[in-house]
Order: sequence, then C-alpha cells, then structure tokens
Amino acid sequence: MDAITTQFDAKQQLELVQFLDIGLIVIDCQLKIKMWNSFMTNHTAIEADEAIDQQLFSLCSNLPVDYLRRKFQSVITLQSALTITWQQRPYIFKMNNYRPITSKAEFMYQNIRIIPLMNGNAVVDHIAIAIYDVTEAARSHLNFQEQNKQLKLASRIDPLTNLFNRGYWESRLEAEFKRYSRAHSSSVLVMLDIDHFKIINDTYGHQGGDAVLRSLGELLIKQHRITDIIGRYGGEEFGILLLDTTTEKAVTLAQNLSDELEKNTVIYDNQEIDITLSFGITEINRAFTSHEQWIDMADKALYQSKQNGRNQATVLNQV
Ligand code: GH3
Ligand code: MG
Ligand code: MG
Repeated sequence: MDAITTQFDAKQQLELVQFLDIGLIVIDCQLKIKMWNSFMTNHTAIEADEAIDQQLFSLCSNLPVDYLRRKFQSVITLQSALTITWQQRPYIFKMNNYRPITSKAEFMYQNIRIIPLMNGNAVVDHIAIAIYDVTEAARSHLNFQEQNKQLKLASRIDPLTNLFNRGYWESRLEAEFKRYSRAHSSSVLVMLDIDHFKIINDTYGHQGGDAVLRSLGELLIKQHRITDIIGRYGGEEFGILLLDTTTEKAVTLAQNLSDELEKNTVIYDNQEIDITLSFGITEINRAFTSHEQWIDMADKALYQSKQNGRNQATVLNQV
C-alpha cells in the first residue's frame, strides 16, 4: 500500500465521530462549542452549525452549571479525565429516551466522560464531553433493586392479614427490648387470640376462618398508632407492641378492640360471624433478660384470660 492511500486525515476522523453511537461535544476553555456530533443533533434537534461557537450553557438550558464548571475546572487543572455516572446524576443533558418498548424511562440515563485535550505545548485548551446512553442498563439495575425491595418487604408480611409475620415482628420486639435496656422507656406487649376459633372453622369452613383473620387484620391496622408494631404471631394469635405506652393505655386499647368487634361482625357468605378476643398484657420489665421472657409472660396472661372465661384482658406485670 502506498503512503498516500493510507493517510487517515482529520476530515475522515471527523466523519467517523459523526457515526459513533455516543454524544460528543468539544468545547474550548471559554466553554464555546467547537464540535457537536450527529448523536447530539439526533437527540436535541440542534444542528451542528447552530451549536458551533455557542456558549455551552446558553445553548443547553437546564444544565447543572455550577456542578459542571467544577468538573471542567478539575479536568483542566489535573489534566486528567473524569466520569460522571448515572448513579451520581441520572443525566446531565436532558434528552428523550427513544427506547420506550424495552424501557420505561422517559429520559435517557447517561454516563458522561469529560476528557482534557492538550495542545502541542501540553496545555489543556479544549475539553471533550462524551455522552453514553446507558438507559437500558440503568433501568434493569433499578428494576432489579425494586424487585429486591419488594421481595424484602414481602418476606416480612403475612399475606393473609397484611400484618408483619412472626419472624419480622419478633425481630422488632427484640430490637425494642434492647433499646429499652438503654433508654428505660416504657413499652407494653399485648398478645391476643381469637376465642374458640376452631368452632368458627368448623362452622363456616376454613375460608370463613380466613375471612375472619383478614378482617381482624384490617381492624388492627385501622386501630393502630403509627408507632405500634403489629404481627401475626401464630394461626389466630397476634402480638401488638405499644411503644412508649403505659399498661393502662394498653388495657384501653384491648377494650376498644373488643367493642369494635362487638359492633362490627364479620360478614362471610352472607352470614354474620361474631368473634371475641382474649388478651394478655405485660409491660416491659427490667427483670427480663430476653424478649422471649416478655412474650412468655404476656402469653401467660393471655392463658389466664382463657382460663377465666375468655373475652377479657389480663395484666401480668409481676415477675
Ligand atoms: P381458644 O379460645 O382456646 O383460643 O380456642 P381456639 O379454638 O381458638 O384455639 P385452638 O388453638 O384450639 O385452635 C386454633 C385453630 O386455628 C386451629 C387451626 O386449625 C386454626 N388456624 C390456624 N391458622 C389458620 C388459618 O390461617 N386459617 C384458618 N382458617 N384457620 C387457622
Ligand atoms: Mg384461639
Ligand atoms: Mg391460639
């Protein structure tokens, strides 16, 4: 091959840049645009000859001006390139996302690379800005994170009652127990159990029983304060942890719940199902060495309510 045909000149290099599937802008140190490739035209509808010699920040409104100035300054001073990832900023140049079929993002997620360009005297006199469309990768990453979050939440929730499941509820109780050892605030544990639930299942079928559980879950959610921590402890047994509360207030809560149930029967299959609850109430106590002891005592109180004829609350605070 002879020397002339192998020459790859500046014009060809410029043409090549036009075909790249990345945005490319070159600015001088006064931030005047010196190159604007076709990717930029395609995504902003600004032609190269409209862009050239314009000041970057006046041509592109909505740029994070101060942020970019600092980046440009750093690239010039340190004479080294830097990257702004989509995790740092989802985009720098707001552009539409043209891949709506595979991705739900309404704008283009971008990684940006800012590159110093040195002249023959080893001085940076231009800066190149490369814009990579990373919408697909960003969306799938975000979807994955969202799914993980949902899974994590789902693993804490009892699907029938929408309350916390036993594992998560107990971990919250344990955390509160440990906090108490430091803070000495007062919290009360209320364990409650549906009376004669077996008879409800036998009379209305398992589905009827489920409807009762669902409805009780709704009532507990409706009645609870934002700080209460409610969980399904077992089949038809529930735990409510009342933070910064007195035994007296817990007794009132138990009474209110029983009153509500008396007023509102559960309707299942056009039949009214009446239920009553038994409660065991125990305030946190310095004598407990673990949260399990706290549950045990509230359970003992609950058992006494059952023994004494059900549909009542028993307080047990003596260790
Ligand atoms: P007590 O008043 O002493 O609490 O009597 P009980 O019949 O409520 O208590 P027991 O523990 O003897 O029976 C509880 C029943 O709850 C037994 C079990 O089949 C039923 N059960 C547990 N989980 C579920 C559930 O998710 N759905 C339904 N429908 N029933 C359940
Ligand atoms: Mg029961
Ligand atoms: Mg039970």
